[in-house]
Amino acid sequence: MLKLFNTLTRKISPFTPLRPGRVGLYTCGPTVYDYAHIGNLRTYIFEDVLRRALEHDGLRVKHVMNITDVGHLTDADTRGDVGADKIEKAAAAAGKGAKEIAAFYTKAFFTDTRALNILKPNVVCAATSYIKEQIALIKKLKARGFTYKTGDGIYFDTGKLRDYGRLARLDIGGLEAGARVPMSAEKRNLTDFALWKFSPPGSKRQMEWLSPWGVGFPGWHIECSAMSVKFLGQPFDIHTGGIDLIPVHHTNEIAQSEAATGKPLAKFWMHGAFLLIDAKRMGKSERNFLTLSALSNQGMNPLAYRYFVLGAHYRSELNFSLPALQAAQNGLARLYRAASGLGVFSPRNLERNGRGVKTHLRPPASVTPFVKKFWNAINNDLNTPTALAALWEMLASDGAPKEKLKALREFDEILGLDILKSARRLAKEEKKIPAAVRRLMANREKARAEKNWKRADALRQKILRHGFFVMDTPEGSVLEKRRK
Ligand code: AMP
Ligand code: ZN
Repeated sequence: MLKLFNTLTRKISPFTPLRPGRVGLYTCGPTVYDYAHIGNLRTYIFEDVLRRALEHDGLRVKHVMNITDVGHLTDADTRGDVGADKIEKAAAAAGKGAKEIAAFYTKAFFTDTRALNILKPNVVCAATSYIKEQIALIKKLKARGFTYKTGDGIYFDTGKLRDYGRLARLDIGGLEAGARVPMSAEKRNLTDFALWKFSPPGSKRQMEWLSPWGVGFPGWHIECSAMSVKFLGQPFDIHTGGIDLIPVHHTNEIAQSEAATGKPLAKFWMHGAFLLIDAKRMGKSERNFLTLSALSNQGMNPLAYRYFVLGAHYRSELNFSLPALQAAQNGLARLYRAASGLGVFSPRNLERNGRGVKTHLRPPASVTPFVKKFWNAINNDLNTPTALAALWEMLASDGAPKEKLKALREFDEILGLDILKSARRLAKEEKKIPAAVRRLMANREKARAEKNWKRADALRQKILRHGFFVMDTPEGSVLEKRRK
C-alpha cells in the first residue's frame, strides 16, 4: 500500500483516493519567462515518480499542470505585490511579445521534460486561457466578504480566516515583527495578497483584461485555485510543488479556495526539496543555475540526471556537482550494460543460441525478495534510493536472467530510465562482436565457472588482442570495445 508524506499533517500516511480507482493530481507548473533549471526539473521528476507509482497501483490519474504566463511578480515570494510581471519584463528585455516569450519557454520546458522521460500531464492549462474562471472566483470571494480594494488592486483579507497559514504552520506575529519590506499602507495584514491587480495608470500592459474592478491582470495564486478546481473538482487528491511554494503560494491557494467554498482544496500536499549547488539553493534569481541543455552540451545524457535525482529521496536536499553527475552517468551505463548482459552474454542464453557451452552455475535463486524490497521502498513515501539499492542487489544475485529482466521491466515503469530499450540497443551493438570473440568469451565463462582462473586470464588476454576489454561485474562479464 502506497504511503505518502503529507505536508498538511507532517506525517506519512496511507494514500486512499477520494473516488475509488481515480486520482486527481495537480502540479504547479513553470513560470515561462526563462528556461527551467535543473533544480526546477528535480521537482518535476519527483512528481513524475509519484504519478507513475499511483498508476502502477492501477489508479487512473488525471494529472493537471498550469503554465504561469501572467501575474507572477518579481517580488511574489517575499509577499510583495508591487514588482514587475516576470513575463512582461522578459518580453520587454528581449523586445518581443509576452505571448511569444511564453510560447517559446513553454515549448523549451516540454522539450526538457520529454528528454527526462517525465510523462506529460493530461491537462496543461495556461493562466491566460482561464481569466474568466479566475474573475468568477474573485467575485465569489467578494460576495463572501473576503476582499477589499486598494489603489493598485483587489486584495484577499487573510485576517478573515481563522487558520490562515495552517499548511506552512506560519507564525503570523513573528512574520510581522521580522518583516524585511515595509508593508504597503493600504494592506490590512502583512499576509494579504493581490487577487487582481490594476494596470498601472497611464501605461498599457501587453497582457490585460477587463474585470468588474477595472482593467488589469490576475494575481499569481488565483490561477491555481481556479484551474485546479475547474479540472479536478474540490477537494481533489494530491497537490504538489517545490518546498519554496509552501509559505506563500500554496498557503494562499488554500486560503482562496477554502474561503470560496468552505471545503478543503486538496487532501494531500506534497513538496520536493531543493537541488543545491555549492550548498546554496539553485535558483533563477541566485544566478547559479544550470539548464538541461547545458548539461547535454557537455556530453551528459539527460537520463543520467534523472538517475542522479532518483539517488536521493525527494524530501532530502541534493547537492549537484558535475563529478557527481558523471558518476551517475557511469552508474547508468553500468546498469544498461548489466541489463544487456542478461540477454546476450548470460551463459544460459549462449546455450540457447547453440553457441555456448554447458556451465556449472548453481540453480538460479529467486529474485522475489529484491522485487519486494523495491516495491516496499517505493510504497514507503517514494524511497527511490532504497529502491535503486534493491535493483542493484537483484542484479548481483544468482537470480535467473529472465526473471531479472522481467523485474527490471517492472521497476522501469517507476524509474523511467529506458533500461530495456537501452539494453536492447547495446545488445544490438554487441551483436557486431566477431564470432571468434564470442567463442572466447563463452570459453572464459566456462573457465570462470570451473574456477580455472589461470585459463580465464589467458582468455582475457586473447580477447584483448581482438580489441575488447572484458569486465567482470557482479552482474556477469561484459565486453567493451577498446578505444584506439
Ligand atoms: P518556477 O518556474 O520558478 O515557478 O518553479 C517551478 C518549480 O520548481 C516549483 O515547483 C518550484 O518549487 C521548483 N523549484 C524552484 N527552485 C528549485 C530548486 N532549487 N530545487 C528544486 N525545485 C525547485
Ligand atoms: Zn500553483
